[in-house]
Amino acid sequence: MRIDICGTRGSTPAPGRDFVRYGGHTSCLAFRSDEAPGPELVLDAGTGIREVTGLLADRAFRGTIALTHLHWDHMQGLPFFRAADTDGAEVRLLLPEPGGSLGAEAALERAMSPPTFPITPRQLRGRWTIAGLEPGQIQLGRLTLLAREIPHKGGRTFGYRVSDGRRAVAYLPDHCPTDLGPGPDGLGPYHEAAVELAAGADILMHDSFWLADELSPAEAFGHAAAEYAVGLAVYAGAGRVMLVHHRPDRTDAELDKLAASFAGSPVPVSVASDGEMICL
Ligand SMILES: [Zn+2]
Ligand SMILES: [Zn+2]
Repeated sequence: MRIDICGTRGSTPAPGRDFVRYGGHTSCLAFRSDEAPGPELVLDAGTGIREVTGLLADRAFRGTIALTHLHWDHMQGLPFFRAADTDGAEVRLLLPEPGGSLGAEAALERAMSPPTFPITPRQLRGRWTIAGLEPGQIQLGRLTLLAREIPHKGGRTFGYRVSDGRRAVAYLPDHCPTDLGPGPDGLGPYHEAAVELAAGADILMHDSFWLADELSPAEAFGHAAAEYAVGLAVYAGAGRVMLVHHRPDRTDAELDKLAASFAGSPVPVSVASDGEMICL
């Protein structure tokens, strides 16, 4: 399968000359299986989803968008995804079932409707279905999507694992393991859901909002330290780590330094950047 990294910034976009190389778009990954002509599964709809239109070469998007959760940096690109807001688009939008009396569509509409935004999700062109997802596994064409609930802050949040039956990628961009205790190193435990998602994955793409020396429970804001991502990969037997969800003020030079600091790690570690393409 092929993965296009379309947005890897956390919290809010980061434009400007200090952010050019790693990029400033918020969370978005596009997956396609070997024989697909373009992306068929998109994880998260941050501002990076605008780049997916270019990957489709003028075709309308027909596929699934699965959101990890409803924070702005994971959904604000939705109405700007031109290839999905067009006649001929067929979009299945999945998000963690909010529970209670609020349905999935109503939950999304809270963040995308007047007066905070000109239109509602229903007013997007094309054929859209919006549905809540419970933890579990679903088949999307040749790709399998596994969803597990993981601790974060403010709203139900999933981590995902995408597999084509041969290769697998785990994606946990917003994850606060310290919610479950200090774990072996004070960075949070390697809990069951995280381990299941990462187990034997070719790539673990994981929250790296904090560094261990910046992390304290009072400052956690629902995120993990980069060092936790590496520890989880080792614990769960993942092949390599790509650090994602960079702090919005983390400059290119600082991200270079972060990448260099993991040079001696037991698994290869890289810092994901917008526009990167991976074939597995
Ligand atoms: Zn986020
Ligand atoms: Zn979040």
